[in-house]
Amino acid sequence: MRQSDFPILTEQVNGRPLVYLDNAATTQKPHAVLNAIVEAYSKWNANVHRGVHHLSQVATQKHEEARKTVAAFIHAQSEEEIIFTKGTTDSINMLAFSFGEAMLHEGDEIVISQLEHHSNIVPWQMLCERKKAVLKVIPLRDDLSLDIEAFKALLSERTRLVSVAHVSNLLGIVNPIEEIIAIAHEKGVPVCVDGAQSVPHLAVDVQQLDCDFLVFSAHKMYGPTGLGVLYGKKEWLNQLPPAEGGGEMIEHVRFEQTTYNVLPYKFEAGTPNFVGSYAFGKAIDYMESVGLDTIAAHEHQLTLYLEAQLAALPHVHVYAAGLRKAGAVSFNVYREDGGLIHPFDVGVLLDRQGVAVRTGHHCAEPLIDHLQVPGTVRASVALYNTQEDIDTFIAALKKAIMMLA
Ligand code: PLP
Repeated sequence: MRQSDFPILTEQVNGRPLVYLDNAATTQKPHAVLNAIVEAYSKWNANVHRGVHHLSQVATQKHEEARKTVAAFIHAQSEEEIIFTKGTTDSINMLAFSFGEAMLHEGDEIVISQLEHHSNIVPWQMLCERKKAVLKVIPLRDDLSLDIEAFKALLSERTRLVSVAHVSNLLGIVNPIEEIIAIAHEKGVPVCVDGAQSVPHLAVDVQQLDCDFLVFSAHKMYGPTGLGVLYGKKEWLNQLPPAEGGGEMIEHVRFEQTTYNVLPYKFEAGTPNFVGSYAFGKAIDYMESVGLDTIAAHEHQLTLYLEAQLAALPHVHVYAAGLRKAGAVSFNVYREDGGLIHPFDVGVLLDRQGVAVRTGHHCAEPLIDHLQVPGTVRASVALYNTQEDIDTFIAALKKAIMMLA
């Protein structure tokens, strides 16, 4: 589907046509996005919001239109709820700082889960250290799904926030985020959804989910690197202090006291990545031109096929087999004697055959520790992958296994 829209997909790697299955790490970019970046720098590059001159006004208009595109894409009530950041990691750090300053006190609790990306662990850990608060972790069941009963038991009078991934980057599992939000809300606890791996694959409607915060990265959605989003309900964002100081985020600056700008600018200190936002708007337009339902159905079918093909190979262990996934499948390969073949070795031999997958801990060391392996091999799909890509990958994997076993 649409492979010709992505110029990099015609590249050769190690003398073989590229089969790119590392989309959970970052996606490739269509012409529409690449052209947008060139257009911005060649036709209307100027700093936004501050200039009366023509180029500045064009740049401002493009940047603000992109914000509206993002707001509509996730069904936010208003574009004031869309804060542009550097990416998911930056969004979570900003939220942890800002929410922590206003809402967290000694002895309070933050709840995350065992399968989080480091970006949804470390900022909360740092916050808890600063505030002498407690980080609580939702454990996993034997099948690697979140233990919802244990989650209910973790919530207490002192829980101030729950922050959980919608889709696990390592396992690809779609977590029951609607249920998690409903349970937390029953106790009056707000929820931050790490959407880095869900917004690229599933239609996410923040009003329907009723999440309080949602974070995601443009580069995982065919958009540019260095740009992400922190969505927050207006009533929350209005209560929180800015996380960073500087230009743009102020109303008036006096040495005695500074007053802050309105939403969303209160949270956007300094010159924003207006070229990135414009290109991200084009990436969203592109996804919508393909159709979110079409993308989800195509990727779902590919993921099922990928998992079935892997599971059919002897000595291959697929993690969380049978659970609902979006985009990514993790596995390991074992020798006849039961010894693990190191995932790096598998990855290197796949690369030699032109197949790009990710190996290692996938920035989720607590989950890797739980699985008691040094890492996994992860194959992850995007809208441009085909069944033929999976077949090429499986054939390359069989060869790698023959060489390593
Ligand atoms: N959260 C999840 C679930 C992710 O998969 C990732 C990236 O892989 C991140 C957070 C961090 O995203 P970024 O590196 O774009 O900030």
